[in-house]
Amino acid sequence: MSIQVFGLPVSRGVAIGRAVLVASSRVDVAHYFIDNDQIEAEVTRLRDARNEVAAELVALKSEVPEEAHAELVALLDVHLMLLHDEMLADATKQWIVERHYNAEWAMSAQLEVIARQFDEMEDEYLRERKADLEQVVERLLKALARQTTGNSHTNGANARDFAGEDPLILVASDIAPADMLQFKRSVFTGFVTDVGGRTSHTAIVARSMDIPAVVGAREASRIVRQDDWVIIDGDAGVVIVNPSPIVLEEYRFRQRQIELERAKLNRLRHTPSVTLDGQVIDLLANIEMPSDAAAAIEAGAVGVGLFRSEFLFMNRNGQLPNEEEQFQAYRAVVQAMDGLPVTIRTVDVGADKPLDRMSSHELRHEHSLNPALGLRAIRWSLAEPEMFGQQLRAILRASAYGKVRILVPMVAHMSEVSQIMSAVERAKERLRADAVPFTEVEVGAMIEIPAAALMMPSLMRYFDFVSIGTNDLIQYTLAIDRADEAVAHLYDPWHPAVLQLVERTIACANDAGKAVSVCGEMAGDPAFTELLLGMGLRSFSMHPAQVAAIKQRVLRADVRALRAQIASVLASDSPQETCVALLKSKPH
Ligand code: PEP
Ligand code: MG
Repeated sequence: MSIQVFGLPVSRGVAIGRAVLVASSRVDVAHYFIDNDQIEAEVTRLRDARNEVAAELVALKSEVPEEAHAELVALLDVHLMLLHDEMLADATKQWIVERHYNAEWAMSAQLEVIARQFDEMEDEYLRERKADLEQVVERLLKALARQTTGNSHTNGANARDFAGEDPLILVASDIAPADMLQFKRSVFTGFVTDVGGRTSHTAIVARSMDIPAVVGAREASRIVRQDDWVIIDGDAGVVIVNPSPIVLEEYRFRQRQIELERAKLNRLRHTPSVTLDGQVIDLLANIEMPSDAAAAIEAGAVGVGLFRSEFLFMNRNGQLPNEEEQFQAYRAVVQAMDGLPVTIRTVDVGADKPLDRMSSHELRHEHSLNPALGLRAIRWSLAEPEMFGQQLRAILRASAYGKVRILVPMVAHMSEVSQIMSAVERAKERLRADAVPFTEVEVGAMIEIPAAALMMPSLMRYFDFVSIGTNDLIQYTLAIDRADEAVAHLYDPWHPAVLQLVERTIACANDAGKAVSVCGEMAGDPAFTELLLGMGLRSFSMHPAQVAAIKQRVLRADVRALRAQIASVLASDSPQETCVALLKSKPH
């Protein structure tokens, strides 16, 4: 039976494929395809792992102390029985043989299938055996990790096309932003998660991959079953499970149309971004990892407007990258951009970007009562002066290889400004003392808290440039958690208060003769291009995949005409409708 699940659209387009269900705790399990001639070796790996775990369990049984004997031995017997059960042993092998999954992937795929069956059992005792099964699989995964394999793989998923395989769609309850990164260049052609808002960082990383994605689909990971056929309508935010042949045909048609449109847009790659009235507009790229710089160049971006450096800091079990490691990463971006400017944002961890692997649920409930308002971004950096100093020195050192700018997230207090400037000075002094080369770098502030937008005239006395982080500006102006799907309907980039703060920030920066850009998701949304141009914005930073669509709007825009219309949009109770009506009434 066909079922529709509704969520939030985060990345456009249509994806059609088979569902791969991944438990949130197992997203770090390697997912890669193996070749035909590797199947036998992979099945042997699985068998060896099973033998190893069996030996482990038998050894444990013999070591159980007399007093605890009966219960523990019974439990270990259950584990041994589960280990050899056909449902686990044979079916896992089938995923390897028929689908060419690597052993770890096959194991977690089969675990998802059996776990569903346990969930549906009437008998409470049997239902509770799911925890035992998970423990057995955990042991098997550990045993597999200990084995070496000749089969090539990267953790996460490899990009190798596997001819003849059905496209795959990843379905998970929740994926942490850092885990999402490992799926870049992956085998998956679409993503669905139960939780998350449109500008949650998981959604942002999904969007940067330029493949259809739906988040906040609440029940999706419960409704969809391993291997179901799934359509993701990334424009409508709908997931269709087991579609009928007619619906499938309709979506295949739409998929082809979208591909044609993309090919057309891609032809604009090398066209300069200039409005009809001759204004040059800088279209820059947002990146998460040094390797993303290639996509920025490929898209025709004229620099990096936001390098989210925090992704270098995540999932490292407390071992943060030192100065040298960071320097290498920043230099790699600078060199890849080959003379184009690179804006490196100092670490912005906290809220939905934890340092270590944690689900949104754990984050909200076990860490800080209100992490988005907690010790995040520059607040954390200032609380960790040694770490901040290392990062600043690493960025400064990279400046010897090209044009680098430092961008500081979540500035709100003047006391923070003086601490930031002193930290930058200290970092320079240390490098000078050690005779390490660097050049003068501009220091900018992100405007993403209403207080900062309102303090623009004061901030402009200290900072060289500003970049408007609309994702957080909307969150903090409207008091809406951007990662919470329960209030996603109230997360409104068109809210008059948000637009007034954006307009004011651009005007203040322009009045002060300082550079201003927008690096939040608003910059990559074509619905806002004319409005932002009319407000006086000349620099937009977005995912590389969005550059062509924004350029198309820029090429058709007449900034002088747009400027005259801004007042009426800002004065309107429903700016979106006013803006759409104005754009329809006059050609731009
Ligand atoms: C923003 O808040 O708009 C922004 C660009 O930063 P991030 O999305 O990483 O919080
Ligand atoms: Mg932000």
